[in-house]
Amino acid sequence: MNVQAIVVGGGIVGLSAGWHLIQGGLRQVLVLERHILASGGTGLGTGSVHTQRWHPTDSALILRSMHVMRELSERSGGAFRLYPVGRLTLAGERDVAIVQNYGRHLRTVGVDAVTLSPREVARRFPGINVSDVAVALHTEGDGVVYPPLLLWTLAGLFRNDGGTIWEGCEVRRIVADGGVARGIELANGDRIESDRIIVAAGIWTRQLLRASGFDLALKHSVAHTTVVTLGRADLWPGVSSLLDGIQGLIAIPRNPGTIMASNVSGEYEAREETAQAVLEASSVAVRLTDAALAERKSAQQRLILKQLRHRYRDHDVRGAVGHWAGLLDGTPDSHPYVGPYPGVDALWVGCGLTGYGVQRGPGIGEALAQLALERPLSVDVGAYRLDRCDHARNFRIDISGDNPFEGFREPRQSSVTVAGRG
Ligand SMILES: Cc1cc2nc3c(=O)[nH]c(=O)nc-3n(C[C@H](O)[C@H](O)[C@H](O)COP(=O)(O)OP(=O)(O)OC[C@H]3O[C@@H](n4cnc5c(N)ncnc54)[C@H](O)[C@@H]3O)c2cc1C
Repeated sequence: MNVQAIVVGGGIVGLSAGWHLIQGGLRQVLVLERHILASGGTGLGTGSVHTQRWHPTDSALILRSMHVMRELSERSGGAFRLYPVGRLTLAGERDVAIVQNYGRHLRTVGVDAVTLSPREVARRFPGINVSDVAVALHTEGDGVVYPPLLLWTLAGLFRNDGGTIWEGCEVRRIVADGGVARGIELANGDRIESDRIIVAAGIWTRQLLRASGFDLALKHSVAHTTVVTLGRADLWPGVSSLLDGIQGLIAIPRNPGTIMASNVSGEYEAREETAQAVLEASSVAVRLTDAALAERKSAQQRLILKQLRHRYRDHDVRGAVGHWAGLLDGTPDSHPYVGPYPGVDALWVGCGLTGYGVQRGPGIGEALAQLALERPLSVDVGAYRLDRCDHARNFRIDISGDNPFEGFREPRQSSVTVAGRG
């Protein structure tokens, strides 16, 4: 069997790549998914889509992803949409200059970021405690999505436009010879040939590359979200997506009346056996398999509830009603890999999206399709080329590398502790 393009992975990156290949004029595009759609990281994403990122390539990718999301919203008659709750970053006295620089930078890369005083925060977001806030950054157009719905909408359009999805079809390895990828081999031994192979296998990417004789520096961390309800229904419409740099808290109102919250200390490098158990099952199974998570859960929940009650002082923060967790794929510098696999023709990879894959995935998938079709790029992803990290060297996941204020640090240490996902 021979098709024009094979995409490995039915997550946000893979489905976006597949759909953009079809939009680009290919007729036979096959997405291969080992489990079912949305069974990987995308199905577990909280859904925050925000433009407050310090790397210019990220900002461009997120703006582009939001453009793709608007198109999906239109084409789905609004069933899928970005709910525009906005994004609010809070900082204390010591970080005023950083936040102001950060806001200026975001405006230069096309992000509509507004700096707010504590008084303006209190006026615009009733019920928020600003007693320790010195400055805030607000991006009104940011919001939240349902990641599985984003995926299913893309899958629906992909199929309607002629694309093919095979679920329950695990790719065992990429078949290459003479420095050219020729196709893939499925777990049952069947082979499919193609001139274009895109690997978007999320946390499983390294495993697949290694089975094929390739490699990339990738490791796993655990992200954990606690679901908390708010009693004051009259205040629900004013709850924004929050990055509380004073407490190290991330709080996302995926639905009115609930907040999905996490703390930086809740993200940590996954133990080898945890990662292995999850990779062999599905990332959804992390809830069952990660004993370390169970140990941390109650301490994390106590901390998060304390922080939420401090910040949302008047919202009547109730107890935690639930939680979930999943693995993230991280690179040595916390930036994704997007581009051709070095030294191998006809093979492109998009992975290492850490905790920001829902918001960058549509743009990254589009970029992979454009590379495979040799078309001009909507976003220059050159900074995320694959050969920038030595895969043979061991590394520790450093989630502070993902700190949104990283590029604006003063000579002294910032008190902003927020990093990681959300
Ligand atoms: C708890 C949590 C909260 C998060 N919150 C946010 C958020 O608020 N905002 C945000 O932007 N991001 C968030 N993320 C991150 C985001 O969900 C991920 O970065 C993103 O979904 C990764 O997308 P992907 O397409 O790279 O991988 P995936 O969605 O994992 O897709 C990869 C697919 O490849 C398949 N696959 C793997 N190997 C093979 C193989 N050999 N053959 C065939 N198929 C294969 C897998 O089954 C999987 O379906 C969060 C993640 C977690 C865990």
